[in-house]
Amino acid sequence: MKTDLFGQKGSRTKSLNRKLLGIFILFGLVLLGLLWIMQSVLLEKYYEHSMEKKCRNGVSTISSAFTEDKDLGYEEFCELLGSVSAENDLYVYVESDNGLFSLSSTEVSKSGRVVPESKRIFADAKSMLASSFSNEVSFTVPGQKGEKMVVFARQIDLDGEYLYLYALAFLSPMGPAVNIIRSQLILVTFIVLALGVIIAFITSRHLSAPLAKMSQDAKRLGKGDFDVHFTGADYDEINELAETLNEAASQLKVTDSLRKDLMANVSHDLRTPLTMIKSYAEMIRDLSGDDKNKREEHLGVIIEETDRLSDLVNEILLLSKVQSGSEEFERKVFDIQKAAEEIVQTYRIMESEGYSISFETLQEEVLVTGDESKIKQVMSNLISNAVKYSEERKEIRVFFTDEGDYVRFSVEDKGIGIAEDQLDRIWNRYQRASQRGTREKDGSGLGLSISSEILKRSDAEYGVDSRLGEGSCFWFRMKKERNGETVKRKQS
Ligand code: ADP
Repeated sequence: MKTDLFGQKGSRTKSLNRKLLGIFILFGLVLLGLLWIMQSVLLEKYYEHSMEKKCRNGVSTISSAFTEDKDLGYEEFCELLGSVSAENDLYVYVESDNGLFSLSSTEVSKSGRVVPESKRIFADAKSMLASSFSNEVSFTVPGQKGEKMVVFARQIDLDGEYLYLYALAFLSPMGPAVNIIRSQLILVTFIVLALGVIIAFITSRHLSAPLAKMSQDAKRLGKGDFDVHFTGADYDEINELAETLNEAASQLKVTDSLRKDLMANVSHDLRTPLTMIKSYAEMIRDLSGDDKNKREEHLGVIIEETDRLSDLVNEILLLSKVQSGSEEFERKVFDIQKAAEEIVQTYRIMESEGYSISFETLQEEVLVTGDESKIKQVMSNLISNAVKYSEERKEIRVFFTDEGDYVRFSVEDKGIGIAEDQLDRIWNRYQRASQRGTREKDGSGLGLSISSEILKRSDAEYGVDSRLGEGSCFWFRMKKERNGETVKRKQS
């Protein structure tokens, strides 16, 4: 592989160094090209234009003196011509019916140049003015020794009598000046290119050094070193990139520790039922094979454990689908109290184990919009937790509260409760409150995490009020559907 000027290995994509160098050289060349055109080609035009402007200004000063001050005395007039001529280095002429009056600046006169064929020039200017729509003309005429002259003429109407004002300026030959500028430009070209290369080199070093360092750190991150810290540079954009990468690294660290937890929890949770299944299968093979009653009892345990396993796997799958957004959510209007009633019915069976489950609805039908089966799953999770975490007082209350535009669903129990410092954690996956009573209960630590994801996706607010040892009240609230208007529930 080839290496370039900056010691970078060549590749299909352009390196920052090379790109910067290219940009600087291109910029330098465009700048110089523009200078060349300006100096060599347009310089003469600029010069001519600026001299013409001088002539025009001189003539304008004189003509405004004429038009504004009709009683201009002869001496004042001479003074005016003298000052206009001296200030602008011009030959100025005024022609009237009385004849031609001329003055030139002392500087111009000292140069020893004389205006050749001035009579012919004035005659030409007059005929141009006569054929022009404008009252002023300007043109150039060849002077002595290859010099050029700019001529500016204006005609003023003084109550029917015409007055002609002429201003003439010699244009110094541009050839020698252009040659000097050209040779200087060649030098400047080399200096600019050399400076361009140096600046490109320094800037790219400044830019690429922190990027190269970051790329090394990113490789460490890729290899699983989540403690890596990205440092920025003197540039906001690179600092922002470093911050984003640090954020990503800390997120990866959290995800990685969650993954490790998950592996530990899942493998623990899977191992227990698997061990049970294996032991009971062995028992059937070695001991209870011929004893129908024992065999069925053992097979019952195997079936129960298999169900637990499949529930766990389903929960893990559902959570990852809901979190990744790949789980479809229906948006349909449904009767939330009817949905709750159906779920409560499935828990009535627990009453045979000493639980009392009360169910209180509002007087009127309440409609909400969302995925009914998912909301039912949340309700079921909350009720099953209430059952699971109740101890002596097995009283569970499921009820609705009218909150204006919202309806609140609550599940209250008199169970073990949750310590205040654990309240925020329980919604995270695999997080189980670490107090007495929790570890002994069956549970994956996924139920609340799935519920919170479902509620977030359903635009519902949710929360829990709990006191350790006294019980908990888990709730969520959804916006009422107003389309259907609240319909009076038939009293049965
Ligand atoms: P688990 O499968 O452990 O019940 P969840 O996500 O449903 O998982 O609940 C997370 C944790 O929140 C539980 O381990 C428990 O510590 C706590 N928790 C949930 N519901 C209750 C409740 N009704 N009473 C007391 N603690 C609860």
